Amino acid sequence: MCALYTDPMSSSWNWRRCWPVALVLAMLAFGQPLLAQRPQDPLPRVHFVATGGTISNREGGRLSAEELVKSMPGVERFARLTHEQFANVASSELSLAQWLALSKRINELFATDQELAGIVVTSGTDTLEETSFFLHLTVRDPRPVVVVGSMRNPSTVGYEGAANLLQGVRVAADPLSRNKGTLVVLNDEINSARNVTKTDALRLQTFRSRELGMLGVVDRDRVVYFNQITQRTNERLEFDITKVTQLPRVDVIMVYQGAPADLIKAAVDNGARGIVIAVAGAGATSGDQSEGLTYAASKGVFIVTSTRSGSGRIAPPQQRPRDGGATDGGGGGFQLSPEQQRRRQFTIAGEDHTPIKARVLLMVALTKTTERAELQRIFSEY
Ligand code: GLU
Repeated sequence: MCALYTDPMSSSWNWRRCWPVALVLAMLAFGQPLLAQRPQDPLPRVHFVATGGTISNREGGRLSAEELVKSMPGVERFARLTHEQFANVASSELSLAQWLALSKRINELFATDQELAGIVVTSGTDTLEETSFFLHLTVRDPRPVVVVGSMRNPSTVGYEGAANLLQGVRVAADPLSRNKGTLVVLNDEINSARNVTKTDALRLQTFRSRELGMLGVVDRDRVVYFNQITQRTNERLEFDITKVTQLPRVDVIMVYQGAPADLIKAAVDNGARGIVIAVAGAGATSGDQSEGLTYAASKGVFIVTSTRSGSGRIAPPQQRPRDGGATDGGGGGFQLSPEQQRRRQFTIAGEDHTPIKARVLLMVALTKTTERAELQRIFSEY
């Protein structure tokens, strides 16, 4: 020990051996106050982009982005928040041109601001599942985009918008939220924009991922994730919409008993480049729809099959037993007519995407390719 040790050749202390002990003593004496004075790491910075919806739909005039920020006392404990007003309309009023502009703006914000932790977007809830899935497919950055809304408007007792927005900010600020695609946060729950659906027209607990389950929750103490999304997201996305000026028209046609072919034909004749057919069960059409789909294929229009059941997967033909009754007109080992063969060449299995999500994916995919095999690959990877 230094303090007890003296060099037998000298009467003085051996200071060379003493210096580590002296250092420890000095740290104990002065280090703690110095550490206490060290400035804290700055809070994550989050940018808020307001587009409107019930969350801002106050009677007598919509809340602005700035007013929404002010509705969250204590937000400064979680993030340094900046904001901008992109639009202030109901979600169903957002045009596809605005979708493109919104995605480009978000990509630009990330590209020009490396210190940004994440982005929160407010949206009306009616078509939130569509807008958020579009962002999920087109924002190519590991940082989170979090879409929030509310079911009750600011003039209602029990308005939950400020709480949802605050939770959205917390999710956007959290490093755990990176590389999970676009997230939807309402009612304390975090869902993937890929899987989430508005399941009830009025209830607060409307946004659900059904059997696939939520990704996580926003609790009082922290943001907790339980599940991970396995499909391609973030930097693994392949779609570049920076130069896209218009999304191709894709229509959704519902299958129901005795449904006519003319609705499909009308979509094709009015410029649709794709049709999503919301089939009954795993593939049935009804009425004259089969004739309409053959017409679509004859005009080079792609057909995506997606179930109207609310959940469940339509497998690509090569992975499915030849079971007949499918919308591609094949199966059962029968000889295919030239029309049926052509229809097969234009038909894509929608995997587990609901009709409304399949429509968004087909619009985005058609900006990249018009090869059937490529479109099928995209549906299987996203
Ligand atoms: N629930 C509507 C929506 O999805 C909001 C109505 C409104 O903001 O006017 O946008």
